[in-house]
Amino acid sequence: MSQGVKIEAHNGQLMVPVNPIIPFIEGDGIGPEIWQVAKKVFDVAILKAYHGQRQVVWQEVLAGEKAFKQTGNWLPEETLSVIKEHFVAIKGPLTTPIGGGFRSLNVTLRQTLDLYICYRPVRYFNGVPSPLRHPELTDMMIFRENTEDIYAGIEFAAGSSEVEQLISYLKTELSVDKIRFPSTSALGIKPVSKEGSERLIRSAIEHALKHQRKSVTLVHKGNIMKFTEGGFKQWGYELAEREFANQVFTWNTYDQLRKQHGKELADQAYQKAQVENKLIIKDRIADIFLQEILIHPAEYDVIATLNLNGDYISDALAAQVGGIGIAPGANLNGVTGHGIFEATHGTAPEFAGLNKLNPSSLLLSGALLFDYIGWHEVANLITKSIEHLIESKRVTVDFSSQMEGATELSCSDFGEELVKWIQLS
Ligand code: NAD
Repeated sequence: MSQGVKIEAHNGQLMVPVNPIIPFIEGDGIGPEIWQVAKKVFDVAILKAYHGQRQVVWQEVLAGEKAFKQTGNWLPEETLSVIKEHFVAIKGPLTTPIGGGFRSLNVTLRQTLDLYICYRPVRYFNGVPSPLRHPELTDMMIFRENTEDIYAGIEFAAGSSEVEQLISYLKTELSVDKIRFPSTSALGIKPVSKEGSERLIRSAIEHALKHQRKSVTLVHKGNIMKFTEGGFKQWGYELAEREFANQVFTWNTYDQLRKQHGKELADQAYQKAQVENKLIIKDRIADIFLQEILIHPAEYDVIATLNLNGDYISDALAAQVGGIGIAPGANLNGVTGHGIFEATHGTAPEFAGLNKLNPSSLLLSGALLFDYIGWHEVANLITKSIEHLIESKRVTVDFSSQMEGATELSCSDFGEELVKWIQLS
């Protein structure tokens, strides 16, 4: 089964052959060493699960430093077209080239394929060092908007002619007089659209319903930015009530009931919705939410949020359950079915070639990929093998340095032990 076949998609539904071709980007810095481990573990898990009846044909595509050395281009056109054609890909971390007006390679990949969902599941693995007393209560799925807000990258430097023109337009045409230091200000523009918010929130609600989760929380800063962040919240509630009317109960509905019929009746409706297992759609202001995830993590489940809030929340939640060495991620287009699965940490250049760091972020991103293509048995084997190794305190340095009685393994030895566990399971 050495020849692979392309994954196809119709209306976002993937059709996965028994021998799909999956493009991979090895990545820069520690990328090659964690990818080597990940590929071996993936192949062993597939063999264990399907006894040779299924197999992935991995196809390398170039990006980052390796691409630049071989082609003079940081992100060759061919890489984008191969990923587009094959729908699903996996990548290690990429260096962001500095200077020369380069955009981040990750941002370019996401924008070219319109991967509007940054999906980050956050859960606790028993035994991982955590700053919390009860890290096991943190179990959330973050849907972060990936194409608008600050990621649109509309910014102008202080002193530039663009800023001068924009400030003069704002003053004369829109009567804006709130810019405190106009002659030394840089300006940024934050677009947040109804379409962009709705498609992200729709995907979050569909995911929550599919996985029988209890709630979706819209996290925003609408108390200050009423039309952008406030719009996100309002459009989210309207969409939930319009498209998922029989499956959800929103805090918006609760508020209306309370205003019209009093608190007692609103409480009764809320309790009835919970008894009927309706998905609760609620919202939180972003700063309060950062307190809430520390104090009441069990009250939050699926999170839908804008780009900048999502950036902070993803890292804060990753830290609660053990840090970036173990945080997986995916960038998805819920309409076309395109998905790039990736380690969420960077290239850690100071550790490159040392064979020391944790490959789990990339491994668990692979588990997400296998779940995404419906190969759940493989995803389970990968996840369970990592759970097992952490519980037996045989871990890489990022964990062993904080775990009493742990044995430090190199990146490749950690991979070998995962392989052994999968083969014997
Ligand atoms: P980084 O994530 O590369 O490293 C920060 C620190 O996190 C490291 O010093 C290390 O202590 C720890 N760490 C990272 N990966 C780990 C792992 N697998 N196991 C254990 N610990 C780990 O962040 P940085 O130093 O800010 O960025 C370095 C480069 O990576 C930059 O060029 C940046 O643009 C790029 N970057 C890429 C991505 C991506 O490709 N998705 C994400 C973030 C940063």
